[in-house]
Amino acid sequence: MLSYRHSFHAGNHADVLKHTVQSLIVESLKEKEKPFLYLDTHAGAGRYKLSGEHAERTGEYLEGIARIWQQDDLPEELEPYIRAVKAYNQSGQLRYYPGSPLIARHLLREQDSLQLTELHPSDFPLLRSEFQKDNRARVERADGYIQLKSKLPPVSRRGLILIDPPYEIKTDYQDVVQGINEGYKRFATGTYALWYPVVMRQQIKRMIRELEETGIRRILQIELAVLPDSDRRGMTASGMIVINPPWKLEQQMTNVLPWLHKTLVPAGTGSTTLSWIVPE
Ligand code: SAM
Repeated sequence: MLSYRHSFHAGNHADVLKHTVQSLIVESLKEKEKPFLYLDTHAGAGRYKLSGEHAERTGEYLEGIARIWQQDDLPEELEPYIRAVKAYNQSGQLRYYPGSPLIARHLLREQDSLQLTELHPSDFPLLRSEFQKDNRARVERADGYIQLKSKLPPVSRRGLILIDPPYEIKTDYQDVVQGINEGYKRFATGTYALWYPVVMRQQIKRMIRELEETGIRRILQIELAVLPDSDRRGMTASGMIVINPPWKLEQQMTNVLPWLHKTLVPAGTGSTTLSWIVPE
């Protein structure tokens, strides 16, 4: 059942958008001394070798991170994310792509904690070994959706919850909404960041409608499309839905989305979206 491997897609345009948003939220949480929890429900393997067979086969990172990581006109909003990518590529060659847990590991402070879950039998041991010496982190082979009930609220009452399923089973589109709703009932002040792919626009519209029906407020949508919607081309866009975004995030994404679009999609196709699904 678990056939998705993120190693085929690591560092693509969708990861760039996701990890930009993740880094900006983490940096905002760091503005207060108080510790916070970073909960990653679908954590992946952690580190991806870009010269590895999987990444080379698709070459997706060439149209993602490879296009931006050494740009001279990098907007300041991308600085924390690119700093993390560079930390794992100190030779100056882009050899590894850090997934969301490694980006968090690089940006979090001593007082913060990480709770990471991954189900895949090959990716889980890789993730666990990455964090063996990090006493801030707890890595479990467990169902990420269950964590939204069992690990919330965090003791610190502050946190970012990243929900990044592969959507290889259609029920993921409903499960994410149910999972967020369960988490929110326990921890209504947390920041929830949900990644989604646009393969069939109708699925996303339905997921958003169901999210609206939960009654949760302060839901921001951020999307980067590399192609127009189509039901034939695979993933044409991806987005992040952020509940309780830090107050600066909307402005930060207003600044950075046009640059990301211009740099990642030089052909000028696609578009960007930044709007409130549900306001205050
Ligand atoms: N968040 C990672 C990142 O940004 O680097 C990428 C995660 S990848 C898109 C999704 C991962 O979820 C896969 O590694 C898959 O094995 C895992 N997975 C699938 N179903 C899961 C579940 N119910 N609970 C936890 N992990 C799951």
